[in-house]
Amino acid sequence: SPLLEVRGLTASVKETGQQILAGVDLTIREGEIHAIMGKNGSGKSTLTKVLVGHPHYEVTGGTILFKGEDLIDMEPEERSLAGLFMSFQAPIEIPGVSNFDFLLMAVNARREKSGLPALGPIEFYSVVSPKVDALKMDPKFLDRNVNEGFSGGERKRNEILQLSVIGADLALLDEIDSGLDVDALEDVAIAVNGLLTPQNSVLMITHYQRLLDLIKPSYVHIMENGKIIKTGDSSIATQINEGGFKSIALV
Ligand code: ADP
Ligand code: MG
Ligand code: MG
Repeated sequence: SPLLEVRGLTASVKETGQQILAGVDLTIREGEIHAIMGKNGSGKSTLTKVLVGHPHYEVTGGTILFKGEDLIDMEPEERSLAGLFMSFQAPIEIPGVSNFDFLLMAVNARREKSGLPALGPIEFYSVVSPKVDALKMDPKFLDRNVNEGFSGGERKRNEILQLSVIGADLALLDEIDSGLDVDALEDVAIAVNGLLTPQNSVLMITHYQRLLDLIKPSYVHIMENGKIIKTGDSSIATQINEGGFKSIALV
């Protein structure tokens, strides 16, 4: 079965009942890179949040299978332990928890699930340190509290550090390119590409061709009004880049 299979997914804002997702179909197989593009407000971020079980949204119809298992009944933490990773468009701060401790806890939770012994701090430092270097981050950054007082670019790098340390079968990357300068974007893209194996998949949301030049998608989807209305190869992204969304023939 595919890694992720979404069928007829509808979802609403829990508090108001306002429908945002209006029947999303999406299939992601192992080793594939998917990109979702679409105008602001089309529901891209909501789709990724619903996939990870964000509490603000309620699934009102359809199915989500991850590795053949029904995701909808799983808690966000269980989804994460099952191999789903999300970088938030606006990552949250976790007061009082250092980056190092956060990463160590996340890694040990996964090791425990796989029946592996927990790593101690010294052992773990030797795992995490080369990854910090690869992302050209200051090692002091590991002692800082998660996301507290980080610049936009630091937050994005930190999300990718989390992904590269924790690992994921499917990484959902929501606008990792926003707020990154060209050099930072390149570092992030190298890190993401370094994580890709024939088993790992990525779903990335972006407005920009430049990210798709660095992380080459197998499929590009266009989202509008809570649905995926077109799917094609990376030439769609080039077309949008040159002529805007209006240049895409939608049937
Ligand atoms: P995109 O990521 O494509 O820009 P979003 O998924 O963030 O779009 O939002 C889609 C639409 O749903 C927007 O009109 C947005 O205002 C609305 N929306 C999303 N989440 C909420 C929420 N928690 N409460 C109210 N409206 C929301
Ligand atoms: Mg938006
Ligand atoms: Mg968004």
